Amino acid sequence: MNHSPARPKKSFGQHFLRERRYIERIVAAVAPRADDFVVEIGPGEGALTLPLLAAAGRLTAIELDTDLIPSLQARAAGVGELSIIHADVLKVDFSALAHRHGVERLRLAGNLPYYISSPILFHCVEHAAAIADMHFMLQKEVVDRMAAEPGSKVYGRLSVMLQLACRVEPLFTVPPGAFRPPPKVDSAVVRLVPLEPAQRHDADPARLHAVVKAAFAQRRKTLGNALGQLLDADAIRRADIDPKARAETLAPADFVRLAKVA
Ligand code: SAM
Repeated sequence: MNHSPARPKKSFGQHFLRERRYIERIVAAVAPRADDFVVEIGPGEGALTLPLLAAAGRLTAIELDTDLIPSLQARAAGVGELSIIHADVLKVDFSALAHRHGVERLRLAGNLPYYISSPILFHCVEHAAAIADMHFMLQKEVVDRMAAEPGSKVYGRLSVMLQLACRVEPLFTVPPGAFRPPPKVDSAVVRLVPLEPAQRHDADPARLHAVVKAAFAQRRKTLGNALGQLLDADAIRRADIDPKARAETLAPADFVRLAKVA
């Protein structure tokens, strides 16, 4: 079997991790235990896959690029039980995957393809109840947006939707030189821990999405103007919010109240 490195494909967002110390830091952050059900998104050439597999004993990896699969499977021989799902991660039903394997909650990890990082995050949020935690490498700018607080310039839809579903814990940054080829941006590793059922919001998810999306579509507008199609000024006041306020000043929980007023 030829194990020479594959030529990275731009169209699949392939930037392979090559610096051992960052690989070790990510694996240490995940800290897989034997019998954890770890699911890796985008294993690529296996930089994270093999050490995660060695620690957990079994691992399920989701990879879209067919060309990478045979050598990955070969490298895993003798390391542990690797199962590769050849699919677009956005089409993988994590709740069904956990159920099929009789596992209560999955542990997700991955150096994500940056071109679809936000869709992947929203997809994971939909399945948060079936996930114990997530450790992802993303563009640093995306991690900053995920963790931003109200009033920050980068606070927006991603911050609100993720913080309503998970505890967001930025861990460390990773420079472009740690990858082959180097991306044009800095990267960062983040830990996401889905909230327990008692801490989760009880708004209708579709309504919440619509309210948050409209509120941030034109950040400079007052909520009264931005939400005009969905809620009038009286309804916004019923949620205990000033219609003259702007979306960027509201806490995530304020959006839940807005989504719940009739
Ligand atoms: N984990 C490897 C590493 O750290 O070296 C590779 C990371 S690379 C940034 C992203 C990986 O995701 C690539 O292997 C790529 O082929 C894969 N990928 C891209 N789009 C995907 C998708 N929609 N679903 C699943 N995997 C995808």
